[in-house]
Amino acid sequence: MKLQKLYLERLAEKLNNLTIAEKERIEGVNEIAVQLLKRYGLEHIKFEFGHNRKYYGICHQDRIELDLFLALNAPREVVRNIILHEIAHALVYPLRGHGEKWQTKAKELGVTWERKYRK
Ligand SMILES: [Zn+2]
Repeated sequence: MKLQKLYLERLAEKLNNLTIAEKERIEGVNEIAVQLLKRYGLEHIKFEFGHNRKYYGICHQDRIELDLFLALNAPREVVRNIILHEIAHALVYPLRGHGEKWQTKAKELGVTWERKYRK
């Protein structure tokens, strides 16, 4: 898919041209994510930065991916909320989507959301 290739190029270009402040920011976000994964017993899940036109965060079986540009630019609380949103997915895996089980788990973790997810 052409567009996705463009996103990956943007990601690679940014990763190769991070300022010192941006590197520190990314390291800080990575630290938060690793701590949270550990807190919830998910040490087997990797945390990575990505870039995609469809989402800011995604949870796969063995890794959570967060948008690099979001990590660089969004307020820390927003970033943390998205990481916890994905951790809630990991905790109810292999269930997918934002159904009742995910919502219950997400609330336990203190995740907030504005979208209306169906139960
Ligand atoms: Zn989700």
